[in-house]
Amino acid sequence: MRSLSAEALLLDAINLHERDRIVSFLTARWGKKRGVARGARAKYSRFAGQLQPLAKVAVTWFEKEGRDLVRISDVELVRPASGLQSDLEGILLGSYLAEHMMEFAQENEDSEKPFRLLDSTLEALLEGCDRNLAARYFEIWVLRLNGIFPVPHECPLCGSPIADSAAFIESEAAVVCRQCGGGASRQRIGGPELDFLRRSARENLEQLSERPPAVGTLERIEGLCASVRRGFLQSELKSYRVMKRTLADV
Ligand SMILES: [Zn+2]
Repeated sequence: MRSLSAEALLLDAINLHERDRIVSFLTARWGKKRGVARGARAKYSRFAGQLQPLAKVAVTWFEKEGRDLVRISDVELVRPASGLQSDLEGILLGSYLAEHMMEFAQENEDSEKPFRLLDSTLEALLEGCDRNLAARYFEIWVLRLNGIFPVPHECPLCGSPIADSAAFIESEAAVVCRQCGGGASRQRIGGPELDFLRRSARENLEQLSERPPAVGTLERIEGLCASVRRGFLQSELKSYRVMKRTLADV
């Protein structure tokens, strides 16, 4: 048994029995972890108020080799995410970001980049960054860090440069030149979308916010990312379906 400590982002907490909770969290060095917080449901628990979704925390846990579930001994709040949890839209977006990491982040593996991505996206959101912009940036980068949906510089089929117009082949999740994507069933990708996909590779959210793309561009980016993600996961994220349905109702 060894004891470890790290900064972490809380992804999920589900109730276990009458008193405990199972908490999923993301660390930079050890990736995604799942642990039992004993007594976390009790009224005067030492975890009371600490296990807020998407909060940044300092967590200490014990783990045994060969066991998936660790035992959480201490959690201290570093940065609450209450600003994102105070309205319905923010709560839905928060669980959407968290579910990405539940699906895409690896357990017990160096996860410096995913950790920094989620951390910086949350930081920007808490500072008032446009939610639509932040969500699109985050989606693109989760796919990119997993080696899918690369920055569209050249056509993966013929190697010719992609300038201001391209086509999307859904079955391959590939952005190709218009020549290669000539079929009528192909989805066209226009200049503003290509521009945003490229800018997101070199600019951070603050820089993107200074010259934000049009709402229509972000909408098309959302559709593209959803399609690539569905192809990769073979299903849609539950939180995405819930978010779309709920926001359509209100
Ligand atoms: Zn081509």
